[in-house]
Amino acid sequence: LVARMRAFGTTIFAEMSALALRTGSINLGQGFPDTDGPPAMLERAIEAVRGGANQYPPGPGVPELRQAVSEHRKEHYGLAYDPDGEVLVTVGATEAIAASVLALCEPGDEVIAFEPYYDSYAASVALAGAVLRPVTLRPDGGRFTFDPAELRAAVTSRTRAILVNSPHNPTGTVFTRAELEEIADVCTGHDLTAITDEVYEHLAFDGVEHIPPATLPGMRERTVMISSAGKTFSVTGWKTGWICAPAPLVRAVQTVKQFLTFTSSAPWQLAVAYGLRHELGWVSTLRAELEAKRDRLMSGLAAAGFDVYRPAGTYFVQTDIRPLGFTDGLALTRELPVLAGVVAIPTQVFYAHPERGRHFVRFAFCKRDEVIDEAVARLARLG
Ligand code: PMP
Ligand code: GLN
Repeated sequence: LVARMRAFGTTIFAEMSALALRTGSINLGQGFPDTDGPPAMLERAIEAVRGGANQYPPGPGVPELRQAVSEHRKEHYGLAYDPDGEVLVTVGATEAIAASVLALCEPGDEVIAFEPYYDSYAASVALAGAVLRPVTLRPDGGRFTFDPAELRAAVTSRTRAILVNSPHNPTGTVFTRAELEEIADVCTGHDLTAITDEVYEHLAFDGVEHIPPATLPGMRERTVMISSAGKTFSVTGWKTGWICAPAPLVRAVQTVKQFLTFTSSAPWQLAVAYGLRHELGWVSTLRAELEAKRDRLMSGLAAAGFDVYRPAGTYFVQTDIRPLGFTDGLALTRELPVLAGVVAIPTQVFYAHPERGRHFVRFAFCKRDEVIDEAVARLARLG
């Protein structure tokens, strides 16, 4: 393995899902729903296969999906993207992130990301030979946020891009307009590209609105906006995502994507196009259900003795394990199957400074109510 990838062993998600399988534990680790997406959309995928959508689709993605994405951006966010040249379908958000970083960063360039960050950010930056500059999100008034001065201090003459994830995995923060304005200010002031990971765009709760950074003044022309059908339609195994960006940025990312995967699987694209056109009502119901599941898991974890942070979006509740007498989340999550028959994710692995997240553990609530209830009952034994 090349030196720059040696720090990246097996991902925490693979490790913890394998641990759940091996021990028969309830898996509140890796974020994937345990119920299916909209039935009519699933049917469309089957029809697409039966109807012969089984050969290479065009490199940028099937026209039906690019058109549906373009219409969705316009209707939801007032953002106009040309389906021919400003939309590119990718193999999930993961490929979109990697291809964007590889396309835009020279070796030695710096990329800012808010820690804790989704694990593929550091790996994608390392693949590009670039350098990740973390800006730490810290709890403040019950939610995780950043210090604008720290963000400004992270910019150097080598900074090329900033990775922005909102709603944010793993903290559940949905950036406010004021926070996004700070970020936009830094981007426009230093001519940075924003790579915005918006995979949880439809999963913000309590009436909190997800604001795409590209909607802020001066941002559309410098933003690669990333989405995924996996989270929006509960089909994480379909690995179908897309980027929207100005044509020169899309051309750059597509140049890299061509040689990573050439093109993305055809049948899912037709089904996701259908989903974007006909199943946004289903997504609203999903959001309401997830909000209730969030509350269910939060109160159970609080009753079990964890300090709990209220997420405004995503699939995840962030907890502080110290009130239970534990200090190291990695050690605890490796023991948790034996202690309680539950699997969770140690948040410290998402930090460039692991000590800053040592006492945090992430639990997923995108699970059936009875699964959450059983997990919570088991965790109550910890106290
Ligand atoms: N970004 C974030 C913040 C995520 O939580 C995930 C996991 N779905 C991804 C990217 C990857 O998405 P995909 O499965 O579409 O590759
Ligand atoms: N996005 C999900 C999570 O954060 C799954 C990630 C993965 O399996 N790579 O848990």
